[in-house]
Amino acid sequence: MRAGFFPAAAEPGILARRKSREGPSDRTMTQPSAASRAMIERLISFDTTSRDSNLALIDFVRDHLARHGIASETVPSEDGCKANLFATIGPTDRAGVVLSGHTDVVPVDGQPWDSDPFRPVERDGRLYGRGTCDMKSFVAVCLALVPEMVAANPRLPIHLAFSYDEEVGCRGVRRLIDLLVRRGFRAQACIVGEPTGMRVVVGHKGKKSWKCVVHGHEAHSSLTHLGANAVEAAAEVVTRLKAMARRFRAEGPFDPMFEPPYTSVHTGTIHGGTALNIVPLRCEFDFEFRHLPGDDPDALFAEIKDFAEREVLPEMRAVRPDAGFDWQELSWIPGLNTREDDEVVAFAKTLTGANAVSKVAFGTEAGLFQMAGIPTIVCGPGSIEQAHKPNEFIALDQVAQCEAMLRRMIRRVSAVPA
Ligand SMILES: [Zn+2]
Repeated sequence: MRAGFFPAAAEPGILARRKSREGPSDRTMTQPSAASRAMIERLISFDTTSRDSNLALIDFVRDHLARHGIASETVPSEDGCKANLFATIGPTDRAGVVLSGHTDVVPVDGQPWDSDPFRPVERDGRLYGRGTCDMKSFVAVCLALVPEMVAANPRLPIHLAFSYDEEVGCRGVRRLIDLLVRRGFRAQACIVGEPTGMRVVVGHKGKKSWKCVVHGHEAHSSLTHLGANAVEAAAEVVTRLKAMARRFRAEGPFDPMFEPPYTSVHTGTIHGGTALNIVPLRCEFDFEFRHLPGDDPDALFAEIKDFAEREVLPEMRAVRPDAGFDWQELSWIPGLNTREDDEVVAFAKTLTGANAVSKVAFGTEAGLFQMAGIPTIVCGPGSIEQAHKPNEFIALDQVAQCEAMLRRMIRRVSAVPA
C-alpha cells in the first residue's frame, strides 16, 4: 500500500448506483463456487490456533495475491511469529471498502471431534472443520474472488485486512489499525466477516477484563485475628461484582437489541489459599464487564476498585500494612455502535438484500475499526452458535450467500456511477 490516502476531487460514494441492472449471478445460490470451496479447505488445513504462528497461512495468502498481481504488506507481531496481512485491489488515492477477517482459530484441545478438525469434510450441505464458521470461510471467499476483483478494475479500492490473535483479545489487528491511522488511511466502509448468518450487524458489546490479586497475611487458622484473609477479601469483592450484575439486570441501562439487553458482569476464575488450617496469604480472580457500547467499562472498574479499597482494605491493613489489591487489565475490546442511518448500513443492506439490522453479544474487531474512524458493520457467513465448538461447521448455503454479497460489492465499487 502506498502511504497516504487522498480524497479525489469528486470522489464517488459507495452508494453511487451502477448503470446496468444486476446480472443473473446475483440470485442467491445454494452452492458456493468450486474456487471458494477449495480455498476454505486450504485455509482450514493451516493449524492457526492463536497460540501458534499464522505465518504459513499468511505466506500462502501473499503468494495467492501475488499470482494475481496484488502486492501484500505484512504487519508482524512484536516477536515476529505472527502477522497481519493488508492488500489493496484498485486505486490507492481514494476511500474504498475494507474486508476484514481474522486468521487465527480457537484450540481444539479436549474437544470431541468426529473428524480431523484441520481436514474439512462435507456432510449434509455443511463443511466441518476448525475455523469453517469462525471465520476462515469469509476470508476464503474474499481470496477466491480476488481474480474477479482484479478483472473488475474497481473505481474504489477493495482492501483485504487479515489479522492474527483475534481470539485472544483482538491483539493483532491493533498493530495494523495503528499503522493505517498513522498513514491517514480512510475508508467508506469496513465489513468484518464474523459469523452473523449474513445479517447486517451494527452493534456489539464491548468487553473489558481484569485480574485482581489479593495479598493478605498468613496465620494459624486458630489465630484469625493475626491474619489478613485473602480468600475472604476476594469473596467480598466478587460478591460486590455480583451485586453490580444484579443492579444492571434490574435497572439497566437497557438496549433491547442485545441479548441480554444490559451490561453483564462475570467472575470467571478464582484461586486462593493453601490449606484449611492456614489463613490464606493470596487469592486471585479474573472478572469481566461485557458492556453496552454506551457504558464506560473504566467507570465500572473504578466502582469495584473503590469498593475494595474503601470497604475491604482497611481491615486488612490494620493487621498488615502491606496487604492490598493488585489490579491488572487483561483485555479490552471496544463495543461497536454504528448508527442505523449511517451510509455503511445502507451500503450493506444493498449488498445483502436485508431490510433489518441486528446487534450481537459477542465482540469483534469492528469496534476497533470504528474507533479508527472507519464506518463499520459486521456481516459474514455462518452462525456464532457453531463457533468455538467441536464439530464446528459452515453451511455451504451461507458461503454461497457470502459470495453473492461480495460479488455485489465488487460491482458496486466497479461500476461507473450513474
Ligand atoms: Zn471470530
